[in-house]
Amino acid sequence: MSRRKQIYEGKAKILYEGPEPGTLIQYFKDDATAFNAQKKATLDGKGVLNNRISEYMMIRLGEIGIPTHFIKRVNMREQLIKKVEIIPLEVICRNVAAGTMAKRLGIEEGEKLPRTIVEFCLKRDDLGDPLIAEEHIHAFGWASQAELDEIIGMSLRINDYMQGLFAGIGIRLVDFKIEFGRLMVDGGHQIVLADEISPDSCRLWDRETNKKLDKDRFRRDLGDVTEAYTEVAMRLGILKPNPATPPHLSVVPNDK
Ligand code: 5GP
Repeated sequence: MSRRKQIYEGKAKILYEGPEPGTLIQYFKDDATAFNAQKKATLDGKGVLNNRISEYMMIRLGEIGIPTHFIKRVNMREQLIKKVEIIPLEVICRNVAAGTMAKRLGIEEGEKLPRTIVEFCLKRDDLGDPLIAEEHIHAFGWASQAELDEIIGMSLRINDYMQGLFAGIGIRLVDFKIEFGRLMVDGGHQIVLADEISPDSCRLWDRETNKKLDKDRFRRDLGDVTEAYTEVAMRLGILKPNPATPPHLSVVPNDK
């Protein structure tokens, strides 16, 4: 059992106090939930895969100048992150119609959107993270106009970069959800990318076959959830196959 002070427990992650002031440890659980936690399961190895995939995405995005909360991965399930004040918004970028937007607007899933659409949901589990308009964000003061401009600009850059990255490994980035936080710096604050980017928070379809390689495999009972996440990690070059054991158990880290 950990003797560290737990700060917060979410559906897929736990936050602990970090070793230095202003830091936290983000622990990735194997728990999976869907439909506002009405559906629950434990998927062996999911936390390890999401830790590795999210580490990879945060590092790559940092390299193109996106400020993030990520400091370093400390072990297979944990990463050291900067403590930020989470902005209570889920920012969703969509390139292809799917999920709630396809349903809400009566668009067939898989239809390419005329352009990238950025949506906002309020982070409120008890309300099922409702879709909101920018007007609500301004009126209720969840973020300032300047912060929102920055959030939208960063989200579109993240989308551009990730679309290219995934296209290079034969994956279509259908949509994804990201979160931002305020990092206190020199009496002011900076907006940084927070939370995680993983197959839990993205829709990733194989470009050739449209096979889903993301959490929809869990939501829609398609099976082979961790196998799909493993495939994403292997295509990204994070993990390499170990020929000795079955595919989803056969991954060994490249670097440790
Ligand atoms: P949708 O609104 O269609 O359900 O989701 C759009 C995208 O955002 C999908 O990639 C989905 O995985 C992600 N997303 C939306 N809400 C959440 C959430 O509460 N948690 C996570 N991990 N991802 C979400």
